[in-house]
Amino acid sequence: MSKFWSEVTRLTEPYVPGEQPKVKNMIKLNTNENPYPPSPKVLAALKGAVDGNLRLYPDPTADELCEAIAKAYDVAKSQVFIGNGSDEVLAFSFLAFFNQGEQILFPDITYSFYPVYANLYRLDYKEVPLNEDFTIPVEQFFHAEGGVIFPNPNAPTSIGLGLEQIEKILQNNPDKVVMVDEAYIDFGGESAVPLTRRYENLLVIQTLSKSRSLAGLRVGFAFGNEQLIEGLNRIKNSFNSYTLDRLALVGAKAAIEDTAYFEETRSKIIETRHRVIGELRQLNFTVLDSQANFLFMKHGRVDAKQIFETLKEKGIYVRYFNKSRIDQFLRVTIGTDEEMNRLMEELATGI
Ligand code: PMP
Repeated sequence: MSKFWSEVTRLTEPYVPGEQPKVKNMIKLNTNENPYPPSPKVLAALKGAVDGNLRLYPDPTADELCEAIAKAYDVAKSQVFIGNGSDEVLAFSFLAFFNQGEQILFPDITYSFYPVYANLYRLDYKEVPLNEDFTIPVEQFFHAEGGVIFPNPNAPTSIGLGLEQIEKILQNNPDKVVMVDEAYIDFGGESAVPLTRRYENLLVIQTLSKSRSLAGLRVGFAFGNEQLIEGLNRIKNSFNSYTLDRLALVGAKAAIEDTAYFEETRSKIIETRHRVIGELRQLNFTVLDSQANFLFMKHGRVDAKQIFETLKEKGIYVRYFNKSRIDQFLRVTIGTDEEMNRLMEELATGI
């Protein structure tokens, strides 16, 4: 260990991102990206922004993008915060609203970045066990000492929580911030964004990485009451006062505004999901009812790790978790119909 490392460096366990294999012609179903390209309007906007103005700093407050998001989601501009991917928004949110010495709560099976942030900021946390059927035990999230965070739908389980249940969590934590990570909300969940008008303790986090096909551009945002957003801006400006780079600002705005393309691609994904779930169940897979752009599934007989390896050899990448309780499950992103047909062929004949 280097003698130059600080206490933080020594104690920090970094997040391990999903594999980004450098394999040609692979079918990539392992990190929940969108199989469809970004809107043509996004690509045109990006090309249009590659010009001499790149010598200039971007708008630090991202006014135009904030306005576009506020309009699209029917909230005030002062209720919108933007960051480099929702990972950054989450990192700032943990720092802004969770305090050391007050235990925060998140599910035991959930997005694996949460314990990483908590450890980085030296926060106490409890991983609340999900119910037997992988649903969220709502009451276990009441009266949190330090606050609550969970994805809706949850990842990797793909199960969504209804707004009534979310309201109960909000009502039972009146003095603590409840963060709802809506990375996958557009694929069938009920968004809590409208609740931000009524609950001052609610922060909703979304991303352009999934339903808008822009994981490569790194744009995420949060909705909350004005004071929460002001808090996030304080934290952000203490790290880097520029919200996004010039290209991301322009591309994100075009993505938000192209509602027709967004609707078309997400409907395709939902249709494919519906079909594939039926086919997988016929092949002896247990598949949880998904409200996301991925499936959480296990085979009745064959070991998950073995299926993962077999598919990998055939150039099909899915996600395997070496974690107790879910080590017999695979998480499989919904790809195009052709990609899913290839997957089904392999599963029908190769395992
Ligand atoms: N939240 C959840 C639940 C996720 O699965 C992901 C993607 N890995 C993120 C947040 C982060 O997404 P991004 O930083 O690309 O916006």
